[in-house]
Amino acid sequence: MLRVKSRCWRCGEVTLALEEIMMVEHGDGDGVFYSFFCPTCGDVQAYAADPRFVDFMRMNGFQPIFLPEPIECKREAASPPLTWDDLLDLHLQLEGDS
Ligand SMILES: [Zn+2]
Repeated sequence: MLRVKSRCWRCGEVTLALEEIMMVEHGDGDGVFYSFFCPTCGDVQAYAADPRFVDFMRMNGFQPIFLPEPIECKREAASPPLTWDDLLDLHLQLEGDS
């Protein structure tokens, strides 16, 4: 069985069977993304797919699925997630008010 290496943002390097990878194309010119569940922690991972990787997957019989994405979804993803510093700032503001 063919295996490829990728990364989990939490666990680092992971090894995956091609069957475990899902390629998604949104048709908006942003290319192909690939997604998988980390075999170690189970977290879902999603990354931009290198065109050579997409070719490699196609040669092995895996095609990207076409999944139109609502624009609002992308906007939300572009805004930075709440960080520990944000929470800390909020805490200090509350203290200052009392
Ligand atoms: Zn992981």
